[in-house]
Amino acid sequence: MKRILVTGGAGFIGSHLCRRLLDAGNKVICIDNMFTGTYDNIGELYSNPDFEFVNADIIHPMHLDIDEIYNLACPASPVQYQYDPIMTTKISFLGALNVLEMARKMNAKVLQASTSEIYGDPLIHPQKEGYRGNVNTTGPRACYDEGKRVAETLFSDYRRLYGTDTKIIRIFNTYGPHMLENDGRVVSNFIMQAIHNKDITIYGSGTQTRSFCYVDDLVTGMIAVMEKKNFPGPVNLGNPHEMTILELADMIIRKTGSSSRIVHQPLPEDDPVKRRPDISYAKRELGWEPTVDIEQGIERTIAYFKKKY
Ligand code: NAD
Ligand code: UDP
Repeated sequence: MKRILVTGGAGFIGSHLCRRLLDAGNKVICIDNMFTGTYDNIGELYSNPDFEFVNADIIHPMHLDIDEIYNLACPASPVQYQYDPIMTTKISFLGALNVLEMARKMNAKVLQASTSEIYGDPLIHPQKEGYRGNVNTTGPRACYDEGKRVAETLFSDYRRLYGTDTKIIRIFNTYGPHMLENDGRVVSNFIMQAIHNKDITIYGSGTQTRSFCYVDDLVTGMIAVMEKKNFPGPVNLGNPHEMTILELADMIIRKTGSSSRIVHQPLPEDDPVKRRPDISYAKRELGWEPTVDIEQGIERTIAYFKKKY
């Protein structure tokens, strides 16, 4: 039985990951300060004696006897990571440093949840791992983008200097059950608006694109990366099916049978124009690719939101 630490385990992706790791027979320790995580997300895990929850902030050093660490602790939606941008940069940097120190001392494997945001507003399309990105270092998204970039640097230097078994995944827009209803992300916003017949808020023209990955597929990819020997990445994990935000709005209105109207609001500063992962590296090295298409995934997510809200 492995002892696995998931930081940010009460959040959207982390709670799915904890459940999957428990189902596979591991002991899971979830550290979360509940900034954007919820007890609801992990409620069903409490009855499992192999699950342990620790309410703590990863900006403080910690030491636990563990075999693997998944470092997910960090607010992920633009509204939430811009709420206290200095804290976001601190979490990204100090959180990475603290999990790396723990991994070094315990000789544990450690995986960093990095992001497609390290590519910024990309000038290369689709984005391959070799692309170095186009981030505005002084813009409102930089606290997150640059925080995640420096975390990648720390992971790479721990590997070079200490031989720590580090892994970096770059996650592209992921959605599914356990997203917060008010996290400001496009999928949760549109579904909440549609099921309550409120206006659907499209920022800008809606011609900007994103590529949405269902959370179960992402979790499968994360575990595959952790299990693959000598595989530091960075590796893109996402669904290459690209769509405009307008297309997403139309799909959600259709699937909810909503009477919502589409309204346009100003585009946030530095909002990337397009984003799509090139996942050929993950396919080749891990045999991984998403299996849940957007129609199915959105239906499951709508069902979750309808039941809960
Ligand atoms: P989320 O906000 O639902 O989860 C983050 C979790 O981290 C929350 O439970 C939060 O309370 C916790 N947390 C935040 N700061 C903390 C701190 N200082 N100490 C301890 N816990 C802390 O977000 P998510 O969508 O589940 O994202 C998880 C990870 O994946 C994040 O690192 C994010 O950057 C990365 N990621 C997510 C996406 C996506 O589309 N969801 C895309 C790219 C990268
Ligand atoms: N967006 C939108 N309406 C909303 C929320 C988001 O049009 O109510 C847009 C946003 O401007 C961006 C895209 O949807 O172009 C994805 O936004 P999200 O915050 O989900 O993720 P990110 O920008 O980090 O990819």
